[in-house]
Amino acid sequence: MSFRALFWIPLVGSPLCKLIPVALADCPRRLDFERTLTPAWLAHAGGRGLYFSSPQKDLTMTLRLTPDMLAAGYDFMRTTDPFRCWKLPESDEMGFHVVRRADLSADFGMEQGMPFIRVSEAHNGHAVTLLSTLAHEMIHLRQYLTGDRELHGPRFWRVAAKVCAVHGFDPKTF
Ligand SMILES: [Zn+2]
Repeated sequence: MSFRALFWIPLVGSPLCKLIPVALADCPRRLDFERTLTPAWLAHAGGRGLYFSSPQKDLTMTLRLTPDMLAAGYDFMRTTDPFRCWKLPESDEMGFHVVRRADLSADFGMEQGMPFIRVSEAHNGHAVTLLSTLAHEMIHLRQYLTGDRELHGPRFWRVAAKVCAVHGFDPKTF
């Protein structure tokens, strides 16, 4: 058993929104995909990104998550409503883990006295999904800091509704 496993105390697990594991693209495959884009497809994309409607649409083209991405996403969300009013710790006072578990979307817990957010790459492949997941766990972080142990009760969902409204997240998958 690892040192981390001895101290990991999961407090909250997110509901699994997507139960179908997504195959992950490795870097060489992604580079191959970019090299094979046709001029017509590039024009169709209109400079707004290459992620949709490609004739060579590859559903395995997803983010390769890193702890730095989680920390950056957390810091961004922390500057937005309603999180900016919550006095949440900065990301360097937090721990962030990327896991690849099919049975977990994300969770929040304490490890050696430090708040930790774990996010599974198997369920978070795009930025909007990642930010929505981080927002969910940030509500649990606030619950922990304020002593609210209601978890997914009415208070959670009242706050979640505001978060989803402000950020355009789907409350049905939040
Ligand atoms: Zn939750």
